[in-house]
Amino acid sequence: MKKLIFFIIISLFITGCQKKMSIETIIYDDSNHLTTITYPITNIKKLDKVINDYIDENKKDIEKVDELNIDYTFDIISNRYINISLESFKRLNDKNSFDIKTYIFDLKKNKFLTIDNLVSKNSIDTIDKIINKKTKLKTNYDNVTFDEDNLYFYFNGIDGIKTVSVPTSDTEFLIDLNFQKEIQHEYNTNQKKQIIDPSKPVVALTFDDGPSKYTDDILDILKENYINATFFVIGNKVKYYSNTLNKSIANGNEIGNHTYNHKSLSNLKLDDILSQINKTQDIIYEISGYTPLYLRPSYGNTSHLLKEKTPLEIVLWTVDPEDWKYKNSKMIAKKVLDKTKDGSIILLHDTKKRTRDALKIIIPQLKSKGYQFVTISELKEVQEIRRRTGID
Ligand code: ZN
Repeated sequence: MKKLIFFIIISLFITGCQKKMSIETIIYDDSNHLTTITYPITNIKKLDKVINDYIDENKKDIEKVDELNIDYTFDIISNRYINISLESFKRLNDKNSFDIKTYIFDLKKNKFLTIDNLVSKNSIDTIDKIINKKTKLKTNYDNVTFDEDNLYFYFNGIDGIKTVSVPTSDTEFLIDLNFQKEIQHEYNTNQKKQIIDPSKPVVALTFDDGPSKYTDDILDILKENYINATFFVIGNKVKYYSNTLNKSIANGNEIGNHTYNHKSLSNLKLDDILSQINKTQDIIYEISGYTPLYLRPSYGNTSHLLKEKTPLEIVLWTVDPEDWKYKNSKMIAKKVLDKTKDGSIILLHDTKKRTRDALKIIIPQLKSKGYQFVTISELKEVQEIRRRTGID
C-alpha cells in the first residue's frame, strides 16, 4: 500500500500553560482504498487517549471500505473548556455511513464533562422537548458540545451528521463562562500555521546568548520570512528584554535555556548546576508564562552529572559557522550554506550585528534549496514521524 503522510504543526496556547497542539494528517492511497485521517495531538494525556482510541477503532476499516475520512473540530471556550468532535465518513459501493463522537474537556479540573456537568437535572426535560421538535432521531446526550450561546447535540444520520442547538438561556446552565478573567495569559489562535512535509529537508536555526539589542531585528527578519527559530536565552539577560522575549514567543518561536549567567556547567556541583537551570526557567516563566523544554549548556560543555540530573533535554548543534570568530556576515553565511544538510541544527548568536546581516543571505538561500525552517520541538516531531513511517 502506498502511504503518504503529511503533518501540520499549529502552535497554540492552551490556557496559560503554553501546551503546543499539533495536527497530524495521514493519507493512505492505493487504487482500491482512499483514507484521509486528520486529528489533533493536544499533548493533554486524557484527551489524546480518547482521540487515539477513536482513530484506531476506525482505522480497522481501512481495507474494508472504498473510502474512509476522519476529521475533527476543536474549540476552546472561555480559555477553559475544550470541545472536540471526531467525525468519520465511510463509503463502500456507493453506500455512505457517518459517525460522530464529541468530548468536552475541562482544563482546570483535568476531566471530561458530561451533560450532568453542563445543565441541572431539571433542564433535561426542556432539552428533550426542544430536540424532539427539531428531529425525530432519539435524543443522545453522549454527543454534546457548547459555546457561549448554545448547547449542541449531534446525531448520526443516514445522510450525514445532524446537529440540534439548544440555547443555554433556556436551561439552568452550570458552566462558568467567566473563567478567562482568572488567567493571566490569553489563549491565542493563529499564532502560527506552518505545514511541514517530513519528506522534505528541514533545518533548525538556533540563537544563543540573547536576548540582546539585535534580537528584535532578528525576530522581524524571521517574521518577514514566515519562519521560526529557537532562542536559547541567558537567564540574567531576560529581565532587561522582557518585551523581546514575549514578542519572540508570540511570533511562534521556541525558547530554550542557556543557563543563568553563561557559566560552564561541566565542572559545577549539582546544586549550582540546578540553580543555573532553574533560575533561568523561573524568570522566563515569570515574564512570559512559558516553560522551556530544552537546555543548551554554555560552550556546549556537558558532564555525566549534568546529563544525569538535568530536568531538561540537552540540545547541542551540528553546524557551527563560528559567528563569534568571523567578523564578516558573508563569511558566516558561506560557512552555514556550505555545511547545512537535512536535519541540521545551526548555532548562531543573536548578540551580533553580523549574524543578523548574515540571516538575510542564509534564509533566502536555504529556502531556494527547499529547506523548511523548524524549531527544535518541530525538528524532533519530524524525526519521530520519519522514524515511525520509514521516510529516509
Ligand atoms: Zn553561549
